[in-house]
Amino acid sequence: MDAEPQPSIRGFRDFRWNDVEHRPYKIEGTAPFKAISRQVLFDEPALGCELRYFEMDAGGHSTLERHEHMHAVMILRGRGQCLLGETVRPVEPYDLVTIPAWTWHQFRATEGEPFGFLCMVNHLRDKPQIPTDQHLEALTQNPDVAAFLAR
Ligand code: MN
Repeated sequence: MDAEPQPSIRGFRDFRWNDVEHRPYKIEGTAPFKAISRQVLFDEPALGCELRYFEMDAGGHSTLERHEHMHAVMILRGRGQCLLGETVRPVEPYDLVTIPAWTWHQFRATEGEPFGFLCMVNHLRDKPQIPTDQHLEALTQNPDVAAFLAR
């Protein structure tokens, strides 16, 4: 049984929330990522979704991946670039990014400052798929994508 949600108000300071564990992203996994941490802000089965905050150091990046479940993202801190399918776009605070099912995606922080975003996902979700060499070859046919991944 899942625990009953309790009423709570948790404070915020310097991009850390009280009573929220701050952990390196997927430390147990083999997925390629760099200098990124995760805080799970809400994880309530009763809501059906989770809200997480990811933050990477300057020059860090998230894992390049795709999956069945969607993401709804709001940039909260710093500047970066977002690979979304076949497009690479600069992103900045309060931009909203919709990542549909099976769309390749990756975030890369701009040099010089941390880059953070909120990410909403289904509570129950499939495991991300990492690109094969063939996927990477197809993706890098696009020069914008190739330049993004080479950064
Ligand atoms: Mn993802």
